[in-house]
Amino acid sequence: MKLLICGGAGYVGSHMVRHVLEKQHEVVVYDNLSTGHRASVPAGATFVHGDIGDAARLARVFGEHRFDAVMHFCARSLVGESVVDPYIYYENNVGNTLTLLGAMRHAGVDRLVFSSTAAVFGHPVSDTIDESHPTAPINPYGHSKLMVERVLADASKAYGLRSVALRYFNAAGASCCGTIGEAHDPETHLIPNVLKAVLGQGKGLKVFGTDYDTRDGTCVRDYVHVNDLASAHLLAIDYMAKNEGAFTFNLGNGEGFTVREVIAAAEKVTGREVPHEFAERRAGDPAVLVASSQQARDALGWRPEMARMEDILSSAWKWHLEPRY
Ligand code: UDP
Repeated sequence: MKLLICGGAGYVGSHMVRHVLEKQHEVVVYDNLSTGHRASVPAGATFVHGDIGDAARLARVFGEHRFDAVMHFCARSLVGESVVDPYIYYENNVGNTLTLLGAMRHAGVDRLVFSSTAAVFGHPVSDTIDESHPTAPINPYGHSKLMVERVLADASKAYGLRSVALRYFNAAGASCCGTIGEAHDPETHLIPNVLKAVLGQGKGLKVFGTDYDTRDGTCVRDYVHVNDLASAHLLAIDYMAKNEGAFTFNLGNGEGFTVREVIAAAEKVTGREVPHEFAERRAGDPAVLVASSQQARDALGWRPEMARMEDILSSAWKWHLEPRY
């Protein structure tokens, strides 16, 4: 297959590119490098510097290549920033996605895998979240992703677009050989912040909230390895070959870890202390977010291989010891 991977220089996107190349498919990466890194794009992929909001540039790329499917990872993804500046979230995550969808339609490419998020659920009303859980985002980031899911459902009926939206829980970890990893600026995610604290980098780790109604007072999250996310995307493309429609699947391990448990596991994996302090709750954080991924397992045949917290942490630790990007 020949795939267009929009956002292939970013954290999840670059792991996707690597996975697809390992499976001997052809890849064109299209990325504006706003948050991604050129050096994260694995050798073997063709790189095009461009923005998904640039219709003319997209038309050229679709004119030069005949793609079997598109994977779309381009998004702004900071919850707090989305609250402060929602216009850029709706413009980039919704408006520019429409430009990409228009270019696909014009070129006759009818399969899309879309990166969605657990943020579409807002505050959960049950312990584990399956696809029938109500969607009620609590920030513009979550709304922007849910809007695109709506667009994809309508596009399926109107234009016959096939799509799979994958709602990631907490993407984490790094490629097994330590060559690509998670590097955001600013870094807001727990696991990189924990490992940076071990290395004495960053501003010091703060644990946001110790008074949640959880087993130790800190938030519970479902961490899923980026390589496992990548394998689900490729399975989604196979799925669309046999099924018409717009589908959504949750991707997580089904097991939650508290912030304190992640810190304890990191101390075990690194053999070092994780210096941290306790702080107020962070705005917009639900107490518990744990996925049921049964549908992805049943329909896609997805089997996460790096589900253990130790595996997720040790892969990330390897990269943090020698970041290359
Ligand atoms: N968290 C924390 N300190 C940090 C970053 C995150 O205590 O420096 C907590 C955060 O409040 C949440 C969990 O760790 O409960 C996971 O946060 P992250 O930003 O990694 O992912 P999110 O669940 O917000 O997508």
